[in-house]
Order: sequence, then C-alpha cells, then structure tokens
Amino acid sequence: MIDQPKPETVAAGHGVASDTAFGAVSPPLYLSSTFVFEGYEQPGRYDYGRAGNPNRDMLGEALAALEGGAGAVVTSSGMAAIDLVLGQLEGGAHVVAPHDCYGGTLRLLKARAAKKQLRLTLADFADHAALDAVLTDTPALVLIETPSNPLMRIVDIADVSARARTAGALVAADNTFLSPALQRPIALGADYVIHSTTKYLNGHSDVIGGVVVAADPARAEALRAWANVTGVTGSPFDAWLTSRGLRTLFPRIERQQQSAGAIATFLAEQPQVAAVHYPGLATHPGHAIALRQQGGFGAMLSFELEGGVAAIKSFTESVQLFTLAESLGGIESLVAHPATMTHADMGMEARRIAGISDQLLRLSIGLEHVDDLLADLERALEASSAAPAPLCRQEELARRENRLRAQHTAPRDSAR
Ligand SMILES: *Cc1c(COP(=O)(O)O)cnc(C)c1O
Repeated sequence: MIDQPKPETVAAGHGVASDTAFGAVSPPLYLSSTFVFEGYEQPGRYDYGRAGNPNRDMLGEALAALEGGAGAVVTSSGMAAIDLVLGQLEGGAHVVAPHDCYGGTLRLLKARAAKKQLRLTLADFADHAALDAVLTDTPALVLIETPSNPLMRIVDIADVSARARTAGALVAADNTFLSPALQRPIALGADYVIHSTTKYLNGHSDVIGGVVVAADPARAEALRAWANVTGVTGSPFDAWLTSRGLRTLFPRIERQQQSAGAIATFLAEQPQVAAVHYPGLATHPGHAIALRQQGGFGAMLSFELEGGVAAIKSFTESVQLFTLAESLGGIESLVAHPATMTHADMGMEARRIAGISDQLLRLSIGLEHVDDLLADLERALEASSAAPAPLCRQEELARRENRLRAQHTAPRDSAR
C-alpha cells in the first residue's frame, strides 16, 4: 500500500483489483437494492441501497480523497447535490450566492426563497465592499462558483472563505468547471465542495450525477444521513460509470486545457473576434487569482463574435467538430450560444447586467486533435465573416424576442 498516493493514482486506481469474490480487476457493479443481514440485529456494512451502496461509496471515497475532504455523498444530479447542502440549513437561513451563478442553481435558490425556506441575497463577488455589506447580515451559507459560466470570471476562494468565516457563514464551492484535478477549494477554506459529476468527473456525457464533499467528518456524516432521509442518492450504475470516467480525469483535462489554451490564443488574434474570456490569457481580469488558486486554466472558454445574429448563425452551422449543444466537460467539443440556449431564461435585461452579450459563444474543448479543432474554428470564422451584413440592431432584437416568446409558449426546462 502506497502511503500518500498522488491524486492521479487515486483517480486511476480507485476500486481496481478490490473484488474479494472473484478477483475481478475492474470493480463489479452492485445493483442490488437490499443486502443480507449477517444475523438477528446484525446488518452488514450495507443494508439498503438508498442508504448505502458499494459503487456509490467507491466513487464518493475517491472524490473525497481528491478534494481533500473527510467524506462525500454521491447524488442523482448536480442540482440534488446543491439541494443536499441547502437541506443542512435551518429554515429561513440567509444564503449568499453570486448573481451570475449557474442557471439551475439560481432557479433552485429562488424557488426555495419563494417558499420562505431560505432567505437569498445575490451579490457580485468581485465587488468587495458590496459583498462585505451583505456579509454583515448573519449569513449561514456562502456559495462560490469559480470560474463562472459563461464569462469565466474568477472568485478568490481563500479571500471570500475567510470573510465568510469571520461573518459566521459556512462556504460551499461549486467546483464543476475545473474538477479537483485543477482546483481544491477545501484547501482554500471551503467547508463543502459541490460537483455536477455530469461534467468533467464522468467526462463522457452519458451520466447525470452530483457529489457533495465535506471538509469536516461530522458534516460528512450529517450529509449522509440527510441524503438517506430525502433519498437524493445516485444510482449504482451511474456511480460505476462515473468511477470509470474518473479514472482518466487527469489525462483528459490536461489535454483538454492544453488545447483550450491554444484555441484561446488563436481566437484572440482573429479580427472577427471582439473578446476572448479565458483565465489563461494575461489580459483576463482574473488571471492573477487563477494563477494562484488553480492548477491550470481549464478547458472552458467563451468569446464575442462580430457580425450580429447572421454571423452567430453561420458560425454555429459551419463548425463540424464542435457540436451545438448545452453542457460541458465531455470528451467531445461543444459550442453553445448562451443568449438563446443556457441563459435564455434569464431575460435580456438580466443578461445585460451579467455582461452576457448576444454575440457571446461558449466552447467546451474536447479531446479531438487541437489542429483539427483550430482548422474547424478557422473555417467557421471565415464563413461567419462572409455572412450577410447584420440587420439593424432594433430589427435584430425584435426578431430575437419574437422567437424566444414563440419558444416559451411551449413549456420548456431550460436552466442547464
Ligand atoms: C451542470 C451544472 C450544475 C447542475 O448539475 P446537473 O448535474 O445538471 O444537475 C451545477 N453547477 C454547475 C456549475 C454546472 O455546470
């Protein structure tokens, strides 16, 4: 047994050759909903699948080790993970969250606030004075998300955690965009780390899942107990698949961010590109903090394309390797148009305040060869600049609003 295995070893090796029944090298999948009692009043390690399952534990233990926490609970989705943390609060507790946090998180927080289950304040975490003012109002939980979606804004985890702690609040950090391969919020002062394992941790776009890691053993135990009470634990098969994905987390994200860096540099040099948002660029406002608190700059970036709706449409229809889809963190490269996709529900005014323009495109960089990705982008940029001259601004906005209104007559769940 290696005393202090490196994170790469934990990720690749968790569960390998652990089968005592037949010596399977790849860990078996335990689908059973119930487990044999060893005798009268003698449950084994597992009794019922909602409370505990070997595949879920295997994944949870690996993720707790990677995040440097005391324990973890694997949940059925990233949203279930966030709600599990909210479930630890007293009724009416004050929750402080970033104004530009993930759409689904915002929807959950607002819905729970509307039911008076918590009190919500949204704040711009880059505005120190504003955040300090909010923190004087007895906060119970401060939620951090960094880098932010889709503008890759960086929050200083150590600084915000210290100020939250002084104010008496616990800190939960959503680490979905970087994974523990590139950022470990507990070491920077967070009490909980949350993931949508749907993204980089599984990495293959075939599981919806989540996890909460707690820094403190008593809080980890409380999470486990509450997850059993509410039944938000994830399925064994999803945990097994996510464990399989996690084995290759480090080489995946290393290669993906290497390509993302090259792509960000390329885009920044293109005349059709007005701005590139990638923390690895020295021009990015969060570059210095990212350099300090992250082990790398990640594989997500966004950029502003000149040329109005016509250029956006032409670009998204011209790319061949980038698939037009929401979500991120998989082995395949994706392109998303936040204004009409991931962030459509926010409405125009909220997007304007958050700085999400109609010309913004978000890229999730996959494992295709970087030369092919660059060639694909180059061709799509050429096509976009050959697109018909942009409509006048008013006409363009009117068309967009009409289309969105038409879409919204059909109920659609669009906070992803
Ligand atoms: C996707 C995502 C979530 C929600 O996770 P699901 O698995 O889709 O429920 C939460 N936070 C962030 C940052 C995400 O990207």
